[in-house]
Amino acid sequence: MTAIVWFRRDLRLHDNPTLTRALAEHALVVPVFCLDQRLLAGRHRSAPRAAFMRECLEELDRNLRAAGSRLVVADETPALALPRLARSLQAEAVYAAADISPFARRRDRAIARALEASGSQLILGPGTFAVDDLSAIATGGGTPYTVFTPFYRRWLALPRRAVQGAPPSLPQPPAQLGSSELPRLGVLPPQAPFVAGERAARARMLAFTGTDAGGYREHHDDLGQPHASGLSAYLHFGCVSARELESLLPADDDGEAARRQLCWRDFYAHVLLHNPGNARAEQQLQLRGKIEWNRSMPLFDAWREGRTGYPLVDAAMRELRDTGYMHNRARLVVGSFLVKDMGIDWRWGERWFMRTLLDGDEASNNGNWQWIASVGVDPQPPSRRMFNPVLQQQRFDPTGRYVRRHVPELRSVPDTYLAEPWTMPADVQRTAGCIIGEDYPEPVLDHAQARREAIARYERARLA
Ligand SMILES: Cc1cc2nc3c(=O)[nH]c(=O)nc-3n(C[C@H](O)[C@H](O)[C@H](O)COP(=O)(O)OP(=O)(O)OC[C@H]3O[C@@H](n4cnc5c(N)ncnc54)[C@H](O)[C@@H]3O)c2cc1C
Repeated sequence: MTAIVWFRRDLRLHDNPTLTRALAEHALVVPVFCLDQRLLAGRHRSAPRAAFMRECLEELDRNLRAAGSRLVVADETPALALPRLARSLQAEAVYAAADISPFARRRDRAIARALEASGSQLILGPGTFAVDDLSAIATGGGTPYTVFTPFYRRWLALPRRAVQGAPPSLPQPPAQLGSSELPRLGVLPPQAPFVAGERAARARMLAFTGTDAGGYREHHDDLGQPHASGLSAYLHFGCVSARELESLLPADDDGEAARRQLCWRDFYAHVLLHNPGNARAEQQLQLRGKIEWNRSMPLFDAWREGRTGYPLVDAAMRELRDTGYMHNRARLVVGSFLVKDMGIDWRWGERWFMRTLLDGDEASNNGNWQWIASVGVDPQPPSRRMFNPVLQQQRFDPTGRYVRRHVPELRSVPDTYLAEPWTMPADVQRTAGCIIGEDYPEPVLDHAQARREAIARYERARLA
């Protein structure tokens, strides 16, 4: 009785219900990972994320070996590798954690057919989200949710499966079963803040749920001294399970605030599952294809490279480039700046984030970009989700710690001018060693004017 466990983005041994179930139902369980070029070179390709994933896989292999097994790497698409392996191992089933993206669902349907034709079957189960089955969540009217708060209330009330430990020992795959070498994949950002793999992920999760969540409710938006968990990349690759993280959150206000935030991950997965067209187009039919976007490459480059002249935007974009991470508050500000102030298509920002983020995740990224562009579920007037980068900096980075960390040319600019360095008198610029227009750019646009133009742009689209 043999089964294959097909690891995808559940690269862990703890609380891995796919692995536990396969072990309970089969004497021999063979862990497999397929290097799928469609993902590595496709539209969501990312050098930092590929490098991070590779390190997660290396550690998964080490952990499997410590338990008596090993990771079999197939350098082929799963459609070729899995039926071949299933035939040669005479495996009755391939187990995997269900996923929701349009690509993942198409792929899994094709694999299920291919396995069936070779006498095996694909068994999908929970493990990717905090709740087991996002497709089963529905409003009283039986429709999918489009508003977060009622989804959250329903989500909180759903039963949860028990968290499972790591299996103490695993059966050994047949010695003659070959495995490809893991090739070099991608390049990590120069200051990647996270060590890949389950071990570091668990240490971070246990620290966060032990003591570090203290102050999360009040301070998770602070940029200077972040109180956020830094778990998103680990959650994306499944180095920790969202279910286990949720189970460990303290039963206090901070734990409650973190649980609500974690629910956004399930919410956007639920949204994409039910609206696969969102992967490429606006959820709001009224606005779909109607907004006249600015196609200015110089403006887009200034945004990507952190040269807009707005310190908070520039700090955040350089944080992304240097670390592969960006704080949530900063993501909101740079998203609003790109889409509303610059008038650039939200998909350009979405794509850049997918290229650069270690936690780049189709559902969370798409849902948040559509939110900030006011084109997604639960739409609000565009002006409500338009952030003033100066006020945001004064509120969430009042001491300038975040901005000075990422924009060194502003290091000696006095606090009074740090959010609007273009207002510095000439002598202050000289003393601070920061001449505007030479050492640091003039602002690429005027926020107040850009705001008026954005409101007019959306209004035209609404009436078109
Ligand atoms: C424009 C934009 C794009 C984004 N793209 C991504 C993305 O590609 N991948 C991604 O994981 N998150 C994305 N987010 C959501 C959020 O910014 C990150 O999840 C968060 O900053 C990760 O840091 P953390 O783990 O320290 O968060 P914490 O504050 O510690 O939150 C804990 C966990 O809750 C989840 N979470 C928190 N906020 C959100 C949210 N708004 N939406 C969905 N899940 C959330 C994440 O899994 C996160 O790890 C995006 C947000 C914006 C505004």
